[in-house]
Amino acid sequence: MPEIPELQHIARVLANRLSGRPIINVDVQKPIVIRLPREDFVAGLLGAEFQSITRTGKFLLFHTNRDSILAVNPMLNGRFQWTSGPDGVEKPHARTCFTLQFQDSEGVLGIRYIDERYLGKIYLVDQHNLDQVPVLNEQGPDALDGALDQDQFLKRLRRYRGQVKNALVNAKFIAGIGNAYSDEILFNAGIHPFTRISTLSEERRVKLYEAIQETLNWAAEIAASEIGQRIDSKPRDFLNVHRKAGEPCPKCGNPISEVAPNRRITSFCRACQPN
Ligand SMILES: [Zn+2]
Repeated sequence: MPEIPELQHIARVLANRLSGRPIINVDVQKPIVIRLPREDFVAGLLGAEFQSITRTGKFLLFHTNRDSILAVNPMLNGRFQWTSGPDGVEKPHARTCFTLQFQDSEGVLGIRYIDERYLGKIYLVDQHNLDQVPVLNEQGPDALDGALDQDQFLKRLRRYRGQVKNALVNAKFIAGIGNAYSDEILFNAGIHPFTRISTLSEERRVKLYEAIQETLNWAAEIAASEIGQRIDSKPRDFLNVHRKAGEPCPKCGNPISEVAPNRRITSFCRACQPN
């Protein structure tokens, strides 16, 4: 699942290459992910231009010059891919859902949206109706939103019960963190993923807030350099614990543990993150 570090960079790359370029072709191959009638989707985008492309939580928002927004919730597997050029893959992927072509100064530039499981959800709404987009309208502040300072974070955390990892991946609590980066954040904070929030001291709550900021910013920089223009890639090899079961912990050398409650893989170090 793409999370803040990757999505932030992908939004920037898409904005750099697509902004201000008219859409000259809209081809819908698998309408299942598109949450409006196919004809409305095509008519709404054909001839339009994206003025900016931003990210909030795990959503990518394409703001058009028609006061509408293409909102993309990639869920587990959705991703974009260039269809041509040095970074592109010309052969269409079997699970391509739709393709957009843009008029570029050097010819035609294309992106396709691919989704192996068709779980992603695509909306095209008037910009004033963004609050009608499901999931987006319920999400809490973005984890890297400047407005989410330490005080705000601690205030929100006091309202949550249950295990700390469950809160981190809950977009209603804070948006943009998924399974991979929640493991990394908890490793950096030295907190066991199944710790109940009610048992966390004030000091450890502050540590958790700092670990969120530090981990996401650290990873965003690496993800940006590893992804480059390959917007369909999701580099994760550099992570410390997530999916590194059996490998030595980078802090203490003990093997990384992995469990999968509710089929969600959770990786952590039993020595550095005692329960
Ligand atoms: Zn360790």
